[in-house]
Amino acid sequence: MLKIKNLHASIEGKEILKGINLEINPGEVHAIMGPNGSGKSTLSSVIAGREEYEMTDGEIIFEGEDLNDMDPEVRAHKGVFLSFQYPVEIPGVSVTNFIKTAINANRKAHGKEDMPANEMLKVIREKSEMLEIDRKFLSRSLNEGFSGGEKKRNEIFQMAMLEPKLSILDETDSGLDIDALKIVANGVNKLRTENNAVMLITHYQRLLNYIVPDFVHVLVDGKIVKSGGKELAHELEERGYDWVKEGAV
Ligand code: ADP
Ligand code: MG
Ligand code: MG
Repeated sequence: MLKIKNLHASIEGKEILKGINLEINPGEVHAIMGPNGSGKSTLSSVIAGREEYEMTDGEIIFEGEDLNDMDPEVRAHKGVFLSFQYPVEIPGVSVTNFIKTAINANRKAHGKEDMPANEMLKVIREKSEMLEIDRKFLSRSLNEGFSGGEKKRNEIFQMAMLEPKLSILDETDSGLDIDALKIVANGVNKLRTENNAVMLITHYQRLLNYIVPDFVHVLVDGKIVKSGGKELAHELEERGYDWVKEGAV
């Protein structure tokens, strides 16, 4: 599904990613871990195509297509979802109305008509029930005064509705409380299928107690210095990152 080869990327002329190689297949959950400042968020932003980041070398191939020249919107329409792609508060636009607009924009990009209103309602009902999201939440104004947990709930709801092929969830370092953590984990676990994949970026080992990854990669100073199975996350929790860094030299 995703093949990253020798990816180098910079921001404001400073090289952050220094040769990343990574392959993600359908059905897999990959956790990207690593110390603060190692380039995790940069990696997710570069895959999603955020303009502040400059790709200086390498390739990002998604389902056989080079993402390099595609705008973020096009990448999203191809099935790449990045959490917090819409972090802004949009007062007056409800969670439901926002998702309807996003779904129809996606359909339009694929040459399809708007989803009929009754079908839309049905899908919204199914997905919100599956994720235990109540109706009141759906009519809330987007991100206006959302708690950390509510932001996560909205994000997981968007993911459920848009059915991306690859979801990139960047769990930033700012306090995810245990409820928010469970919302993310529960959502990801319920939405996992053989056809989609998840790249879960996290600083916290404890998230991986709830979402069991197939692969764990450790990013240090812009490079993947170690990859392994789920046991690597536990090892990192016990031993920290220093031993992997030393191993990298
Ligand atoms: P992580 O997500 O692993 O904590 P980031 O990708 O956010 O790491 O950051 C990697 C490096 O890039 C850090 O040294 C950070 O200071 C730098 N960086 C990130 N964003 C910017 C920016 N907008 N301008 C300048 N430097 C940045
Ligand atoms: Mg950081
Ligand atoms: Mg980050």
